[in-house]
Amino acid sequence: MSGLRARAQRGGRAVALLALALTGAFASPARAEWVERTVDGTMGTRIRVELWAEQRAAGDKALDLVFNEMRRIDQAMSTYKPDSEVSRVNAQAARAPMRISRELFDLLTTAVEYSRITDGAFDITYASVGFMYDFRRHQKPTEAEIAAALPAINYRNLVLDPQRRSVHFSRPGVRIDLGGIAKGYAVDRGIAILQQRGVRHALVSAGGDSRIIGDRFGKPWIVGIRHPDHKDQVIARIPLIDTAISTSGDYERYFDENGVRYHHIIDPATGHPASKVRSATILAPTATRTDGLSKTAFVLGPEAALAIYNRLVDVDAILVAPDGRVLYSRGLEAAGGQ
Ligand code: ADP
Ligand code: MG
Repeated sequence: MSGLRARAQRGGRAVALLALALTGAFASPARAEWVERTVDGTMGTRIRVELWAEQRAAGDKALDLVFNEMRRIDQAMSTYKPDSEVSRVNAQAARAPMRISRELFDLLTTAVEYSRITDGAFDITYASVGFMYDFRRHQKPTEAEIAAALPAINYRNLVLDPQRRSVHFSRPGVRIDLGGIAKGYAVDRGIAILQQRGVRHALVSAGGDSRIIGDRFGKPWIVGIRHPDHKDQVIARIPLIDTAISTSGDYERYFDENGVRYHHIIDPATGHPASKVRSATILAPTATRTDGLSKTAFVLGPEAALAIYNRLVDVDAILVAPDGRVLYSRGLEAAGGQ
């Protein structure tokens, strides 16, 4: 009762406050808050951006810019778009050296560097065979088709000339696909845009590739690694600040046939899906790097892949082996991995 009376007595002030709030809605008063946007479809995946904005309008503007950038990269680098720069490279680069944008040239250079680091496990020319798989339609190439196309898979078939900024395929049949690195690159571009605008706490993710700026108010961001067979079970929760993280899994894009899982990570040596781990999670400073390195363990197996990851001082890894064992890189063992 007394509460009601008190409210009635303050009625006049409440109206005044309401008027102020309405004016405020037009003037956008400074009020820091989390803003978040999730969009499905760009780059064939779910893109999510979360950031701490000093002002809502500035936060929304930053989100617009990040999503525009993601669409631009998709437009340039998707092999599903026949007019993308990458599709034009696939159509023309076997005939003669082709001049390309600085952005694509730099990303191809990085891709080749990851091929060298991973003993060829990461290889964007996987697509020379890979294009014949359609996981949604449950289609795969025959053994004869794989054998005929296999010699085209080899990152050494990509001739990059920095002077002319050109790419040339040294033989016919070579195709590239940036599906194993472009999402990480797009995440890094999104993060760069946010940093330029002074954002100090944010998460940008595109499918399995994410990067984080700062923390969440004195606490780390928590990213879960899912169980390969049970979507809702988490095998590890990792606290993260200022880092990138990518997870590749054989459960992302696949079909099962006669007890064999056909999935989207291809062994460049065989042209068949690579199944030496069930999932691989990589931590490193940039998402281009974590994305580029997360395919390796599928192709080389946990032990050989960990030997590579342990050699790279800025990289850590969590691998789930086919028998369910969880393996950690040296940097994570001390943190409770083993
Ligand atoms: P996501 O597409 O969800 O980010 P991944 O990061 O695991 O998944 O990347 C898988 C993609 O990588 C495949 O869909 C394909 O485009 C590409 N890819 C497959 N095999 C290789 C390989 N050996 N080297 C480089 N890229 C590959
Ligand atoms: Mg990826």
